[in-house]
Amino acid sequence: MSGSSSKGIQLLESFGFVKVKNLNGTSDLVCNSCGSWIEHWEHKSKEEPDKCCCLGCDNFAEVGAHVKKSGSEDMHHYIVPLCKKCNSKTEEFYVEKDTLVSARKCKSNS
Ligand SMILES: [Zn+2]
Ligand SMILES: [Zn+2]
Repeated sequence: MSGSSSKGIQLLESFGFVKVKNLNGTSDLVCNSCGSWIEHWEHKSKEEPDKCCCLGCDNFAEVGAHVKKSGSEDMHHYIVPLCKKCNSKTEEFYVEKDTLVSARKCKSNS
């Protein structure tokens, strides 16, 4: 295990991965128009959630997790499909940048 290799991290970032961190205590803020955050993700991305988006995880996506980018100026909240195990991670992890959707609630009549 060589988790401190910054060269490896730069390589990951150039492949479109982004370092994120779970946000806790946000599950009660559901997008009313979508019903759940995983449905919100489907609605926004126009894709079916398949595998957990955490780099190196092969479990199925079970929840729409709230994350924020780690070590970034970007303070927005995002939704990404994760398995329950990854949703309870407290450490930082990598996801594909393209899988992030905005956690801003949808307007109910759009
Ligand atoms: Zn929504
Ligand atoms: Zn996972």
